[in-house]
Amino acid sequence: MTARWEADPYAVLGDSERTFWADAVADAIEAREPDEPIVIKGGVSPSGIPHIGHINEILRAFYVAEALRERGHEVRQLFTSDDRDRLRALPRQLADLDGTIVGLGEVDASALGRNLGRPYTDIPDPFGERDSYGEHFTELLRRNVEALGIDVELVSTTGLYEDGSFDDIVGHVLEHREQAREVLSRYQEKVDDDYVPFFAICDDCGQLTETITDVDLDAGEVSYVCTDIETSDGTIAGCGCEGTTSFRQGKLPWRFEWPGQWQLLDVDFEPFGKDHAEGSWPSGVDIARNVLGTEPPVPMVYEWFTLEGEALSSSSGHVVTVDEVLELLEPAVLRYFFVKEPLKQRDFSVERLDRLVDEFDRFETAYFGDGPESERAFAERAYPMVVDEVRNERVRIPYTFAAVLGMTDNEALREEIARREGHIPEDAPGWAVEEALGRVDRARAWARRTGNEFDYELKRETMPEVAFDEDVEAGLDELAAFVAEGHDGDAIQGEIYETARRHDVDVADFFAAGYRLFFDDDQGPKLGPFLGKLDREFVVARLRRER
Ligand SMILES: [Zn+2]
Repeated sequence: MTARWEADPYAVLGDSERTFWADAVADAIEAREPDEPIVIKGGVSPSGIPHIGHINEILRAFYVAEALRERGHEVRQLFTSDDRDRLRALPRQLADLDGTIVGLGEVDASALGRNLGRPYTDIPDPFGERDSYGEHFTELLRRNVEALGIDVELVSTTGLYEDGSFDDIVGHVLEHREQAREVLSRYQEKVDDDYVPFFAICDDCGQLTETITDVDLDAGEVSYVCTDIETSDGTIAGCGCEGTTSFRQGKLPWRFEWPGQWQLLDVDFEPFGKDHAEGSWPSGVDIARNVLGTEPPVPMVYEWFTLEGEALSSSSGHVVTVDEVLELLEPAVLRYFFVKEPLKQRDFSVERLDRLVDEFDRFETAYFGDGPESERAFAERAYPMVVDEVRNERVRIPYTFAAVLGMTDNEALREEIARREGHIPEDAPGWAVEEALGRVDRARAWARRTGNEFDYELKRETMPEVAFDEDVEAGLDELAAFVAEGHDGDAIQGEIYETARRHDVDVADFFAAGYRLFFDDDQGPKLGPFLGKLDREFVVARLRRER
C-alpha cells in the first residue's frame, strides 16, 4: 500500500477538507490501522539554545496526538534528541540551565572548539551542569516543553546506540550496504563505490569519521581511518588514525538514521520542516521500503515562521526562547500560535505581541459562542487543546490595557481600575481575577523589552508637582472637557494640537505639560492615543490638576 503523501508529503493536509488540520492528519494515521499505542515523533540535534522554532514541531505533533486521543486512541509522543550528531560549528550564544543567555566569550570557547566533529554527548557541558553538551541542551528543551504543559518523552539517540537498541538496524544496513548505496545514490551525488553508510567514533580523537574500510558483521564491528570531514560549515581535520570499533561506537548517517528511528520506535507520524520535504523525506521513504523493509510514517510538512519578519537563525542569534516568550504571554497564547494552519507562513512579532494576544482572546471568545460563525467551528474543535482546562468564568484583560495597568506598581489600584473599566466582572471568582491580573506583569515585561509606548512610569497615585502659566492651564481645562465627552485617542491627539493653537501655546510646550502631569517627565508616548487607553475619569481629573 502506498499513499499519495509518500510522494507528496504536503498531500496529507492539502487533500483534506477538515476544519482543523490535526484531524486531517489523524485521519491519515487511522487509515494505516496502526497498533496501539500510536507513536508520534519529532526530533532535533541539541546544537545550542532551543528556541520557539523547535517548539513548532513539538506542538504540531501535540495537536495531532490530542486529536487522536479524543478519538479514543492511546498515543505516545516522542521527541528524539539527535545527540550523536557532530558539533559542526560553535554557536555564538549559549544558555545555562536557568535559561540565562551568555555569549561564547563567557565560557571556555577554546576548550569547546577542540570538540568540533565529536558527537554532542561526548562533549563536556560548557556550564558543568550536566554530563555533556548534548544532555545540557536537551535538558533545556525538556524544561521548555514542561513550561508549555506538554507531555513529551525525550529519547536520546546516543542512548539507542549505546544500549544496543540500534544494533540490528545498523547490522541490517551494513549487511545490505550495496542496496543502501544504490538507493542513496539516487538522491546524493557524493555516494561512490566505497561508500559505507556508517560513521565511526575515532578511538583516538573522538571525532565521527566517515571513512569506513571494513565491516565485520559477525563481530558487530567496523574498521575506519580518521580522515578530514567536509561539512557545510567547513573542513574538520581528522587525526589520521586507523582503528576498529563496535556498531555502538558510531552512528548511521542521517539519511539512514531517520528511517532507522521510524522502524526502531515504530513511528506512525512525524511532522517536519519544509527543508526535509525535498531532501531526507523522499530518500527516507525509499530507504524505509527498499533497505529496511518497513513502512514510512505519515508525514506532515510545516512552514517555517519568521521572527519580526526575518528567518530565525541560531547562528546569528536572531531567535527568541520559550522562557523569554513566557515572560510576556500565557503558555496558552504561545500554544495558540501553533494551532493555526501549518502551511501558512506567519510572523512571530514580539513588537506586536498585542495583536497575537488579541487574536487569542477572540479565539477564546469564539469558543464560548461569540463572534463570526467561520471562527466558531475552528475554535470549537481546537480551543480545548490549546488551554490546560476549559473554564468559562475565565477573564482576560485586553493586553494593551494590561500594559497600561502595568505602568503602576500598586496591585490593588490595578485591580480597582480594571474593575471600574469593566474588564473584571463583579461576580468573577477569585482564581479568575488573579489569573486575569497575571497578564499585567507580562504586558509590563513586554513594554520593558520593546521599549514601547507603555514603557513609562505613570504617576498615578500622586500628581507630580507642576507649575503652568495661565494659557496652558486654560488649555488643559478645555482638553479635560473634551476627554470627558468620550472621544477616542486619535481625536484627543488632534484636539491637543487644536487646543494649543487656540490658546496660542507652543505645541511642544503643551505636550510637555501633559508629560509632566502624567509621567513627571518631559517626554512620553504619543499622548492622545495613550490618554485614550487610560480610564477617562482619571485622565479628566489629572488634566484638571485635581489629583
Ligand atoms: Zn581521529
